[in-house]
Amino acid sequence: MRPVTDVPSGAMMQIHLDAEKCQGHNRCYALAPELFDVDDYGQAVLLVEGDVPADQHDNARLAAANCPEYAISITD
Ligand code: SF4
Repeated sequence: MRPVTDVPSGAMMQIHLDAEKCQGHNRCYALAPELFDVDDYGQAVLLVEGDVPADQHDNARLAAANCPEYAISITD
C-alpha cells in the first residue's frame, strides 16, 4: 500500500476525485460508501462537498490509498 497524505486527526480534510483518472474499479465505494457512489457507467461519484466529516477521515484515507488509478487525493 502506498503512503497517504498525512492529515492530523481533528483537522479539516477535503477529498478530491479526478474523474478522468477513474477507471471504475469501485474500490472506493466498497471501502467508503458514505463518501463515494457509483454512476450508471460504473464510475465513482463523490458524495461529499467541502469538508469531510471527522468520522469519515479514516475511510477517506483508506479509499485514497486503495485507488489503483491514483484518482483520489485528500488535502487538509
Ligand atoms: S477506486 Fe479509484 S478508479 Fe476505482 S472507482 Fe474509485 S476513484 Fe475510480
